[in-house]
Amino acid sequence: MILVSSCLAGLEVRYDGHHSLNENVRKLVEENKGVTICPELLGGFLTPREPAEIVGGDGGDVLDGKARVIERSGRDVTEIYIKGAYNTLDKAIEIGVTIVVLKENSPSCGSSMIYNGEFTGKRIWGNGVTSALLKRNGLRVISEKQFAEDSF
Ligand code: SF4
Repeated sequence: MILVSSCLAGLEVRYDGHHSLNENVRKLVEENKGVTICPELLGGFLTPREPAEIVGGDGGDVLDGKARVIERSGRDVTEIYIKGAYNTLDKAIEIGVTIVVLKENSPSCGSSMIYNGEFTGKRIWGNGVTSALLKRNGLRVISEKQFAEDSF
């Protein structure tokens, strides 16, 4: 079983109330090979919500207490992101997944790129908070782009 970002499967859970539909991921869920998850909703956020970015590093740095997750208006939401990450890890273990397909660029789900914390649209290499935690616990986390390129 593969765990996937809910927004990639077409669910309107993004901060702006939209989805990030990826047809390959939706097909996976329709064939009952994929289970949807949204770490930010699992952390306690609602949709819509303010956009947030990691300031001072990436998701691994957030887990180590060296960086914070900040909303555009300045509110520190680090603890909600960490809670969402741990709740996602619990679900991954419960289901017994080994591969996770998460939405690139998100401060939760990015697995190689995230925004740089300045809300300017610039990206840097790094993991989101959930991706960092899942990788540290031995799960293979890939983006929707890698998923399209690989065969499962
Ligand atoms: Fe999609 Fe992940 Fe953001 Fe939820 S937290 S909306 S699954 S990118």
